[in-house]
Amino acid sequence: MQTITELPSMTGLTNGYRSRTAYRLITEEDRVLVYDSERTFILRPPESIQKLIMSVSEPNKASAELISWLKETDLITNNCISKCYPEQTFILPSLTDISIDLSGNCNMDCKYCFEKPIFSRIGNMSDELIKKTLDFVFEKCEGSNTLSIHFGSGEPLIEFNKLKGLVDLATRMAENKGIDLAFELTTNGTLVNKEIAEYLAEHPFNVRVSCDGPPSIHNTYRALKDGSASYDRVERGLKEILSLMGDRVTVNSVICSGTRLRTIWDWAKSLGIQHIHTVKVGSKKDSGLAMTSHEASEYKTDLKYICNQIFTILSQGQKPMEFQPISKIIRRLMLPAPINRFCGVSGSYLGVASDGKVYPCFRHLGIEKYCFGDVENGIDDKSREQYRRYEAAPVDNRRGCSNCWARYLCGGGCYADPVIYGDKNNSPLFEQCTFWKLDIAKAISFYDEIRSIDPTYCLRMFGDDIDDIDDIINKHIIERPEFVKTRKTV
Ligand code: SF4
Ligand code: SF4
Repeated sequence: MQTITELPSMTGLTNGYRSRTAYRLITEEDRVLVYDSERTFILRPPESIQKLIMSVSEPNKASAELISWLKETDLITNNCISKCYPEQTFILPSLTDISIDLSGNCNMDCKYCFEKPIFSRIGNMSDELIKKTLDFVFEKCEGSNTLSIHFGSGEPLIEFNKLKGLVDLATRMAENKGIDLAFELTTNGTLVNKEIAEYLAEHPFNVRVSCDGPPSIHNTYRALKDGSASYDRVERGLKEILSLMGDRVTVNSVICSGTRLRTIWDWAKSLGIQHIHTVKVGSKKDSGLAMTSHEASEYKTDLKYICNQIFTILSQGQKPMEFQPISKIIRRLMLPAPINRFCGVSGSYLGVASDGKVYPCFRHLGIEKYCFGDVENGIDDKSREQYRRYEAAPVDNRRGCSNCWARYLCGGGCYADPVIYGDKNNSPLFEQCTFWKLDIAKAISFYDEIRSIDPTYCLRMFGDDIDDIDDIINKHIIERPEFVKTRKTV
């Protein structure tokens, strides 16, 4: 049984020193770990210290031996930054990611679709507006040398010809400006044929196919517009893309109440999928769609099953299928990269609806209250800043998150979910937190296990080499200069 408790603060014991915020964690295998949440470090205390760590209840009861270990590991520190990212200014970062809704339409009618309660199915984007959108995007990404264009609201492949036109135009504009351009497509897979798959493979696309697992699960939630089952068409499209793009394809599976993680994992493995991302469903409280705390124990068992399989594959010298809830956290622990927000919403990321209106991200399209302006007349950056101060506040200021042990690995949860489904638009959907924390706790113990057996397992998990890691570190430093400060003290 895994337990997590906060390590009492020793601040004030020694002049000029303070305790970093840290937690004691007993893993399912009974290993004692200390999780330094400020630096997202995992420490394995020597045996002589473990008992002292677990039993200390107040600072004045800490033994000299324990204090000395805490100083040695800089858990008692003279570093004055008490929180990871004390965001004093809200300077907007350059735009690096934009989601463009080309179709304003979808050919499916999924039970949990977030577009039902908002109003984004308004028909396709005109060619004139596509050009204006790109002018807007390239102006806003001034200062950045990369840009990723996402196609994902509704079903973008309904407008495949428009998509090709946009890709051509954006490619020319990026070349003129010396910007490194990439494309992300999220599709339900039903319209994919050989021609489309070949086109995507020949261009710098990463593709996400939405599929909830085997037919018994997928067809429960994801029907075509006429009500018929969609699984067979999705699987056909998915296989077409996988055969040409393998490693550039991720499958997004939405997890609802009753869905077992291990069923999705086994299904994904049987199809040769290389990246699987499970997403906790966003929904209204009374919809019955979201997992409940009664399912936590099964969820935990399934995480264990999946990590055991990953471990076996790693120990055979192979690269396992990437399982994103776990791999995402392990990546952050490897860097290490404490985060202060869940995503770049309203800052480095924006969403454009098919009528040219601009919103914090693709899941806010059509919610008038969150419209920042449009691509033709410009947007109000003050409203963007305001959104980042309140709805997407840094995790230290987010209602309900500021004292959560998992906050610098979680970031505070999706900001669109509470806006669409929640009672309060500045705190997360707490019913999801149980499962976020299970993911994070499992990732911590699994990371500690694999790095202690063979640190190269961590790289093999991602097919990484050391240059990739450097690139990621640089990206984090560019986005958050505070990170440099934290790293230098380590
Ligand atoms: S797990 Fe929940 S409470 Fe904790 S940081 Fe994430 S969203 Fe906030
Ligand atoms: S707010 Fe939610 S949906 Fe929007 S970009 Fe962030 S994580 Fe994605």
